[in-house]
Amino acid sequence: MFESLGNKLQDILEKLGRERQLTEAQVKASMREIRMALLEADVNFGVAKDFVARVSEQAVGQQVLGSLNAGQTVIKLVHDELVQTLGGESAQPSLDKKNNVWFMVGLQGAGKTTSSGKLAAHYKKLGRKVLLVAADTQRPAARDQLEVLSKQVGVPVLKVNDGESPAETKARIEEHLARDPRDLVIVDTAGRLQIDEGLMNQLAALKAELQPTETLLVVDAMTGQEALNVAQAFDERIGVSGLIMTKMDGDARGGAALSARSVTGKPIYFAGVSEKLSGLEPFYPDRVAGRILG
Ligand code: GDP
Repeated sequence: MFESLGNKLQDILEKLGRERQLTEAQVKASMREIRMALLEADVNFGVAKDFVARVSEQAVGQQVLGSLNAGQTVIKLVHDELVQTLGGESAQPSLDKKNNVWFMVGLQGAGKTTSSGKLAAHYKKLGRKVLLVAADTQRPAARDQLEVLSKQVGVPVLKVNDGESPAETKARIEEHLARDPRDLVIVDTAGRLQIDEGLMNQLAALKAELQPTETLLVVDAMTGQEALNVAQAFDERIGVSGLIMTKMDGDARGGAALSARSVTGKPIYFAGVSEKLSGLEPFYPDRVAGRILG
């Protein structure tokens, strides 16, 4: 695992001696390489800097571990800290017996609609009664896309009308639930190509009306550095309770996940791993830590 980085560190650390404890000089030399590896994996610069500072503090004076050499010991420390920063264990969104409302937010193209369909398929399989809500009041095409997915999954869909107010949407959802009880309502919202104040206001108003039990931010893993700004803006403006990282099947190295998780402190619940409805997996921090170290 991490062979190229491990070999490089080993060469550097060999020159600095073979003490049984990591020295300050060793840690300093290896952290330069670790920072490079993080930046190559598209971790945001500030996040990488903070991360390296945190690991450096822990590493100086650490025993070189049993069968490992100094380079491997450093890698293990970094790997363990990456796993912790990414959330430790894989986590699940909260789900009560009934009345669950999940609000899906994110930039256009991130994979919100696809992820809404995937979640519907996943939870339907687990025995949940799902209702999909297509809540983009401006783009009929986005609503049609969710309708197509809802048919594939075999769950009902409620499409908002052009220009409908949040109060009207809420009333229509309630009316639907009164005639067709559902325990998980997944609301796919409008997106824009960039952070947009008008959209943020609209989402905040809809969220205030619907009072969701989870607000899931969908982040494209391929966006690298930009993921930090997106996550920060949505969390500050809308309030996010968890993250979904899409397009993890691409060649993204996982930097976006580390940045989005670091800046919000919110759990990453799922990874999108294909365009298909079945392409949703729990997010495993240890796998992604491995990918980041390359
Ligand atoms: P939205 O604008 O946020 O609703 O994004 P869409 O759900 O329409 O997705 C945008 C594009 O990304 C579509 O072509 C999807 O098929 C694709 N997509 C979404 N999630 C994934 C994923 O996990 N892996 C891959 N490879 N493609 C994805």
